[in-house]
Amino acid sequence: MPNPLYDKVFGIHSDKTAPFLHLADGDTVTYAEFLSTAAQIANALTEIGLKPGDRVAAQVDKSVEALALYAACVQAGLVYLPLNTAYTVDEVGYFIEDSGAAFVVCEEHTLPNLTIVAERFGAQILPLATDGGGSLMGRARAKPSDFSTVSRNSDDLAALLYTSGTTGRSKGAMLTQNNLLSNALTLVSEWRFTSADVLLHALPIFHTHGLFVATNVVLATGGSMIFLPKFDVEQVIKKLPDATSMMGIPTFYTRLLEAPKFTRDLAHHMRVFISGSAPLLEDTHKQFESRTGHRILERYGMTETNMNTSNPYDGERRAGTVGFPLPDVDLKVTDPDSGDAVHDGVIGQIEVRGPNVFKGYWQMPEKTAAELRDDGFFITGDLGKFDEDGYLHIVGRNKDLIISGGYNIYPKEIELLLDDQPGVLESAVIGVPHPDFGETVLGLIVAQSDQSPDLDAVMEAVENSLARFKHPRKLVVLEQLPRNAMGKVQKNLLRDQYKSMFT
Ligand code: ATP
Ligand code: MG
Repeated sequence: MPNPLYDKVFGIHSDKTAPFLHLADGDTVTYAEFLSTAAQIANALTEIGLKPGDRVAAQVDKSVEALALYAACVQAGLVYLPLNTAYTVDEVGYFIEDSGAAFVVCEEHTLPNLTIVAERFGAQILPLATDGGGSLMGRARAKPSDFSTVSRNSDDLAALLYTSGTTGRSKGAMLTQNNLLSNALTLVSEWRFTSADVLLHALPIFHTHGLFVATNVVLATGGSMIFLPKFDVEQVIKKLPDATSMMGIPTFYTRLLEAPKFTRDLAHHMRVFISGSAPLLEDTHKQFESRTGHRILERYGMTETNMNTSNPYDGERRAGTVGFPLPDVDLKVTDPDSGDAVHDGVIGQIEVRGPNVFKGYWQMPEKTAAELRDDGFFITGDLGKFDEDGYLHIVGRNKDLIISGGYNIYPKEIELLLDDQPGVLESAVIGVPHPDFGETVLGLIVAQSDQSPDLDAVMEAVENSLARFKHPRKLVVLEQLPRNAMGKVQKNLLRDQYKSMFT
């Protein structure tokens, strides 16, 4: 019976003895072994009483079994709901309640507390794996290693993936089989992945980047991944010679650049380095090229839409941009008031339409209606502009836009200037409440190591380049910017911290 996502990314490999995962300790997991494990888990999930369409919430560390749980859910027609391992018990409780999850998979050490929460919301719970019995894997290992794949339509939900919560409470994005499948196939061809690829995978697997972009692309081609528990610069440098490609968040690339052992020779054989999830500084792009000769390929996407744009594989990868819309993605930059497309060079809201775009927010019909237009365009909440050559520049998020004295101020413009000043490593510009202007501009700066930037000189540079209403009212030097697991700057935390500065 058909199950498009399972059939095209997993099922095609069922008898292959080729490697799928190369583990940190040197062990290898073949495709056949991985899919047998997934089938055993699917049998165990069915025995628990789960029915197609049920949500399976998993807050588990990165492991082969955790990845096989994703495959098992797809095969059994269950909706996979991975959760950030950093979430607290209360936070996980919110996701269980909101999603109506029927089953929760956790780590042994979180079992006691999560059991209380799961029971409160009527969900069953098991730890993924324990030394003794009583775990999901303990049950799965006793099951047959084949499973009769549950039939699904392309429009059925494959995953309920919550957004990162950078701008507010996380929302559940309903992702269909075809959302995931179509995007994986598009990326394979855009980025020229083949079965010869070995992808260095050091991303978490609870987020769209590590779970769908990286994993589905490799699965769709029959290539393999070096599957590391987390990004550890020493380990990545050690494994890089065996890889052909790497996907990472910008922080991975800045960490690599800080390591003297990361040399041109070490990166020479690599086919491609890809970056996304947060903006890659132009400076990082340039430093990376001068160190390695490689131009990082930056792309742009989000939980709700999978990937939307990418710099070209062949052709100029332009620093500070996220490239062009993918072939099957319509993307327009619109005026927030009229909804009409604006001219190239003009900043507006980014809207996307295509087979990659989600079905809506879980149990939030009003929010879905407000952001997903009748004609299929999704208002992403990001602001951007096309340059004269059609490259998309992300200018920031709608929610980070500062409105001061009636003027719109785009933080990115000020951040780019601050970043260029001597002694400044990076910056975040936010709007904070102000009695006269509604909001005013606050510049938060991180100094380059061992340097203390001359703030008067920085302000002078700002005054020479930017209109008065954009000048930060104050500059504050911070040790570092608060970032979440995906390297995104948490401006909401900064806004909260400095909300009383001028009131
Ligand atoms: P929430 O929606 O809950 O506030 P979030 O938007 O951070 O959280 P994700 O879906 O993980 O959750 O992130 C998508 C966002 O990440 C995009 O909307 C965009 O703002 C940002 N992003 C992704 N890739 C890039 C990139 N290459 N350059 C700049 N921003 C990017
Ligand atoms: Mg978002």
